[in-house]
Amino acid sequence: MTGRHNFIIAIDGFSSCGKSTLAKALAKRLKFAFIDSGAMYRAVTLYFLKNQIGLEDDAAIEQALVDIHIDFIPNTEKTEIHLNNEDISDEIRQMYISDMVSEVSALKTVRSAMVAQQQKLGKRRNIIMDGRDIGTTVFPDADLKIFMTADPSVRAERRYLELSAKGEQVTMAEVIENLAHRDHIDSTRAESPLRQAEDAVVLDNSDMNQEEQLAFVIKEYEQRKASKSAI
Ligand code: C5P
Repeated sequence: MTGRHNFIIAIDGFSSCGKSTLAKALAKRLKFAFIDSGAMYRAVTLYFLKNQIGLEDDAAIEQALVDIHIDFIPNTEKTEIHLNNEDISDEIRQMYISDMVSEVSALKTVRSAMVAQQQKLGKRRNIIMDGRDIGTTVFPDADLKIFMTADPSVRAERRYLELSAKGEQVTMAEVIENLAHRDHIDSTRAESPLRQAEDAVVLDNSDMNQEEQLAFVIKEYEQRKASKSAI
């Protein structure tokens, strides 16, 4: 066990497994801070697209990473994500960002900058962070690591319903294609690819509702909290 007093929960897994939904519910129940690390990579992608930063232009990327300021601003209903003081919470969920985000987040310089910020956010407070490399790279000493997975058709349907509810004109085929594309890049990239940490607990939620998922993680949390306090 580490000398840390705060409790860190890392949730990793494939795209559209319901990581953020579970993490948000958990944060509310446990009164922990929640950080959606994917939103940070999406914010960087939005900045690159807006400022026409080419993925091969190392100098421009380095400067962009200095100029990019990402903040999580909690308000009563939800936590907003701000890019250089602008609320981009809705914009970064759009398909044109999903189409590019895995290429941007495979870049070593981008990852180093984001991981450093994520580690800072996890200092001295109880936190739940979801992403792809949280239990392996960002917080390898997290107190509880969950690796989420679900049947690809279940994931695609959830994502399709989510986007359609927001009024985005997408087809099921586009959603399936995007998920497969992101999973492939995320799992095969050189820099901290998506993989299950050895000490992670697997949560396959293909046939589980939100309450069942929450109960599963709370049980794991309570066990670990008890053994952490006992030390
Ligand atoms: O979680 P979400 O689907 O919003 O993440 C968007 C993308 O950001 C992922 O497909 C992945 O390419 C990247 N990502 C990452 N590492 C994380 C979180 C997200 O590479 N920790």
